[in-house]
Amino acid sequence: MSYEQVVDNFDREHLWHPYTSMLNPLPTYKVRSAEGCTLVLEDGTSLIDGMSSWWCAVHGYNHPVLNQAVEKQLHQMSHVMFGGLTHEPAIALGKRLLDICPPSMQHIFYADSGSVAVEVALKMAVQYQVAVGKPEKTNFVTIRSGYHGDTWNAMSVCDPVTGMHSLFGKSLPVRYFVPSPQTSYDGEWNEEDILPLRKLVIEHHQELAGLILEPVVQGAGGMRFYHPQYLVEAASLCKEYGLLLIFDEIATGFGRTGKLFAWEHAGVEPDIMCIGKAMTGGYMTFSAVLTNHTVAECISSHSPGAFMHGPTFMGNPLACAVACASIDLLLSYGWQEKVQRIERQLREELAPASQWPQVADVRVLGAIGVIEMQQPVDMAWMQRRFVEEGIWVRPFGKLVYIMPPFVISEAQLTSLTSGLLKIVREISLVE
Ligand SMILES: *Cc1c(COP(=O)(O)O)cnc(C)c1O
Repeated sequence: MSYEQVVDNFDREHLWHPYTSMLNPLPTYKVRSAEGCTLVLEDGTSLIDGMSSWWCAVHGYNHPVLNQAVEKQLHQMSHVMFGGLTHEPAIALGKRLLDICPPSMQHIFYADSGSVAVEVALKMAVQYQVAVGKPEKTNFVTIRSGYHGDTWNAMSVCDPVTGMHSLFGKSLPVRYFVPSPQTSYDGEWNEEDILPLRKLVIEHHQELAGLILEPVVQGAGGMRFYHPQYLVEAASLCKEYGLLLIFDEIATGFGRTGKLFAWEHAGVEPDIMCIGKAMTGGYMTFSAVLTNHTVAECISSHSPGAFMHGPTFMGNPLACAVACASIDLLLSYGWQEKVQRIERQLREELAPASQWPQVADVRVLGAIGVIEMQQPVDMAWMQRRFVEEGIWVRPFGKLVYIMPPFVISEAQLTSLTSGLLKIVREISLVE
């Protein structure tokens, strides 16, 4: 293919893309359509999708059932304000979420995006502390290598180095960071892993409203998989010292890690939980923040008697309708088998790379496969080579990773992993 055909000059000159330069942007590839697990570029080239559009498109693209859900809702109403009004899609989605989320999560706040959900969760924790007579508990602790989004307070709890926001350091609220858990997901639990958090919580609990972390799988901040026992220990510390435990399941939710939600790996329920990304099957931006009776009741029974947040597009009916359809689809087709099959295949097919000198680590959990390189990759070169191989994989720093749609076929996945390995192997030759 000639990749010049898929570069658009208007786009290059006027449209900002995520984390890019306006002067010297990396090339963007123009997509004409997407169907199942393939993206079709403007010149007709098909790429097998390894990213699910950043964890979202778990059912693949242009899915007839999801299309129909949007269309049906569109002809009823695409949006009405949620202040003073409600509607069936919001109620139907709420019922589904109660069925699949931790049992104690009983109160749902719909928000616009993952980052906004994180803002809402942090505000909830602060308002709760005010309500229980601890107004000085306003700060947060988190673990390193985390990623929680790009808005102000979400940025403040991202890893200050790998979380992409070090530039904003001085203007952000200063949070407490402890080392990320070192025991790997399937390693033998090392009790010392919890000590830094214990020490910090003991020293600073008077000012801490909560602990926020991504359970078991840390996404964009490092693609790390850690031991579920960490969550058990962290939860008991939070309980003992009056911190709310906030799980950011925006990336891990809806089956990606092999459980419907990652809290299930540990059996630990949070006080507040954020979900997003795959919630609408990748159709549109949407998120939710769930909490338990205690938090909801405390906030509601204390002045001003309300939770102080309310986005314009809260509970958007189109998003709710497609989220309902996406959840129904997920539960109807044996997602767990699909994810297990992807996991087995990823383990087998990515394993050879672990022997290569340019590779630091290969790890797989659920439908997530990660190759961590020794050195940061040349993204422009690598992206282009992937496209030439007919696959869509977006590397980042030292991390080359895939999280394909759950509906990917065995043959498509093999094309994806073999293309991936081929390009990773070329790296030593380029340098
Ligand atoms: C993507 C992500 C977010 C932010 O979600 P946006 O929809 O991009 O705002 C927050 N937390 C985690 C764990 C994520 O993966």
